[in-house]
Amino acid sequence: MRSLEEFAADKLAALERAQLRRAPAVTARTGIWVERDGRRLLSFSCNDYLNLSQHPQVIAAAIDATKRYGVGAGASRLVTGNHPLYAELETRLARLKGTEAACVFGSGYLANTGIIPALAGPDDLIVMDELSHACIHAGAKLSGAEIQRYRHGDPSHAEEILGAHRGTKKRALIATDGVFSMDGDIAPLAALSQLAQRFDAWLLSDDAHGLGVIGGGRGSTFVNGAAHSPIQVPLQMGTLSKAVGAYGGYLCASNAVIDLMRTRARTFIYSTGLPPAVVAAAIAALDVIERDPAYAAEPLRKARLFTRALNLPDAQSAIVPVIVGDTAAALAASDRLCDNGFLVVAIRPPTVPAGTARLRFAFTAPHDDSDIARLAELVRSHVLRR
Ligand SMILES: *Cc1c(COP(=O)(O)O)cnc(C)c1O
Repeated sequence: MRSLEEFAADKLAALERAQLRRAPAVTARTGIWVERDGRRLLSFSCNDYLNLSQHPQVIAAAIDATKRYGVGAGASRLVTGNHPLYAELETRLARLKGTEAACVFGSGYLANTGIIPALAGPDDLIVMDELSHACIHAGAKLSGAEIQRYRHGDPSHAEEILGAHRGTKKRALIATDGVFSMDGDIAPLAALSQLAQRFDAWLLSDDAHGLGVIGGGRGSTFVNGAAHSPIQVPLQMGTLSKAVGAYGGYLCASNAVIDLMRTRARTFIYSTGLPPAVVAAAIAALDVIERDPAYAAEPLRKARLFTRALNLPDAQSAIVPVIVGDTAAALAASDRLCDNGFLVVAIRPPTVPAGTARLRFAFTAPHDDSDIARLAELVRSHVLRR
């Protein structure tokens, strides 16, 4: 197997030279505090926006479910892994998103790689934002459909593509992040929804970073406030692994679409159900989100404290990128913040396009306003003024 070892070693050496080699750092986390290499750091690199992974009621629900049902689900949901908590979680999700039904997957990544190929095939067209999350790209590729990418956040480019290609294809899907994971901006969902209706295309929004954070906690289709009806997005997917503080992915849609997922989505059929503790935790976390929209509004308020302190455009979500450019500079900027007690991970290609390496700040409810002010000051003096 010498060729295998050589392949791996050569590949790693090339990545090392480009400063693109990555490895998971050992991180012990307690809420917003993390310990790395014996140092305690205040983290702005965690998607647990509401700190619900640490919430006493969420933890208690997980423990109770484990005692009652055990640790693992034991089988795929279509076999015997569909423990009773799933139905409750799916009812909750559908209610929160205002859809007829919902279906829970093993993760957000598994959701998109299951949903998209269940809806689109080789005769079909997928039109997607170029900055969509990796799992939308993966799902689209798996489907075998023709893939066309429109410029980030540009519905007129999507329109152009639909005009040129829709006619030759049987079905069409438009896919986008609701909140973009590395940029923090919100997709032009209202315009995309109109395009979808005009071109008979199905709109899928991935609201991994919207649920629990924007739109009163209900996500990006609800950003216009209670007075407006939500934007028509027939395929609302997302994750339970971020603001919900647990794990898993979901799709909220009509009864027919959800029933189709349960019988055709391969990542639903051929992967073991979630541990009962995780499902119970997600239910308890949704309770908190529904009960306390003011708490769910905190991460965005904190993000705006930061953008205002730096005269950046107002944050639209809990995520704020500060683009540095090259990979080495982004890593150095992250090191400087680390020297001052802050963990802000540098995001490099291929997670973001080449030349746009950045610091990605994720703001969460328990962050202190004074710490945010101190962080902004450091960013002003060490990162922006270089
Ligand atoms: C994190 C993320 C996912 C993946 O969700 P997991 O539950 O972590 O697998 C999918 N889409 C977007 C936009 C994300 O940010």
